[in-house]
Amino acid sequence: MSIIMSLNSGSSSCKAQLYQMPEEKVLCSALFERIGQSVGNITFELENAKHTDEVLLPNHKVAIEILLKLLIKHGVISSLDDISGIGHRIVHGGEKYKHSALFNAEVEADIEALIDLAPLHNPANLLGYRVMKELLPNVTQVAVFDTAFHQSMEPVSFMYPIPIEYYQKYRIRKYGFHGTSHLYVTSRARSILGEDQSRRLICCHLGNGGSLSAVKDGECVNTSMGFTPLAGIMMGTRSGDIDPSIMAYLAEKEELSAVKITDICNKKSGILGISQVSSDMRDIEEAINQGNKQAELARAMYVQRVGMTIGSYIAQLGGCDAILFTAGIGENSSIVRKLIIDSITDAFGVTLDDKKNSLRKQEIEISSVESKIKVFVIPTNEELVIAQDTYQLYSVN
Ligand code: ADP
Repeated sequence: MSIIMSLNSGSSSCKAQLYQMPEEKVLCSALFERIGQSVGNITFELENAKHTDEVLLPNHKVAIEILLKLLIKHGVISSLDDISGIGHRIVHGGEKYKHSALFNAEVEADIEALIDLAPLHNPANLLGYRVMKELLPNVTQVAVFDTAFHQSMEPVSFMYPIPIEYYQKYRIRKYGFHGTSHLYVTSRARSILGEDQSRRLICCHLGNGGSLSAVKDGECVNTSMGFTPLAGIMMGTRSGDIDPSIMAYLAEKEELSAVKITDICNKKSGILGISQVSSDMRDIEEAINQGNKQAELARAMYVQRVGMTIGSYIAQLGGCDAILFTAGIGENSSIVRKLIIDSITDAFGVTLDDKKNSLRKQEIEISSVESKIKVFVIPTNEELVIAQDTYQLYSVN
């Protein structure tokens, strides 16, 4: 038996889960929020107990030190030596990392060099690694990249039609994100359906951020996010794909820098920008029920964009065996799932079983018996993929 930690170190938060491997048993979960602010929040969950606390979390090191103390205090481990491996979620692995990698000086330098492409995420992810290395210098540490799953895309799908020198000079291309989630969800579908019945899959990761991927025989052939997570479908606060000329036009009209306009497209657009109500789909559903027309437009635009992306991936895959919904909206909003599937029913003969679609938060097939394409809800589990990859690399080394 080995104990493996999956760690997602973000800019102001840190999320950890401890697994007993190879049994894949979750021993505990911890969430540290508001790191660097005046009061931080800790949520620590064991199998049968949940503790919450408010403490000062000036930086990630303090948060991780508290985490390690809590693990001992609650008897999850008896000493720090019990931890065999730590897997870190790393947002950007560029073109080099097609799989998870054991941390060493080269991997660390590569992630550092990619900060330019993921300025908000890679520094925070790297910080998690560096703090762990200082506190637990002998533990195996593994980098699990959000971009890795999408590295199987061919140039015809990942290149942008701009002068090729920009790819050669700056590696401007589609990378795609949420790869760990797309990998987990499509792998689950392949084991539920069998490989022959799941050769062409479309995975819809619909959370606050959102992306779709087209997966053939287990390999990603296209995905909707791009050079950055701003591309693709409309999201909670991100515009997704828009005419790129809008950026320069707005910069001039509003006398704003390109950076500021990009910030508006990332943080003030999408469902929030159109509805002016909220970026959260629950609030949008409530506002629609109260007759708010902008909220209704926002949801309709969202649904159309997801439906059109599914349609384009059906064309690229030459058909589709199953459409998979996951993440906050995909797992919980039966109305959004219904509207998306209804928008493509006439084109593709895909229909839902309304009763099954009304269930929440469980792995379930929700298509009707007559549907030409199967539809599933598969709750994502990125932490488990991180723990599995870490355990695997720990075991062979
Ligand atoms: P993140 O991208 O931050 O990980 P999540 O996957 O947690 O996001 O998804 C957040 C989204 O899920 C929000 O838009 C939220 O409204 C939506 N969501 C969560 N629960 C429900 C629900 N019961 N009904 C509708 N939407 C929900």
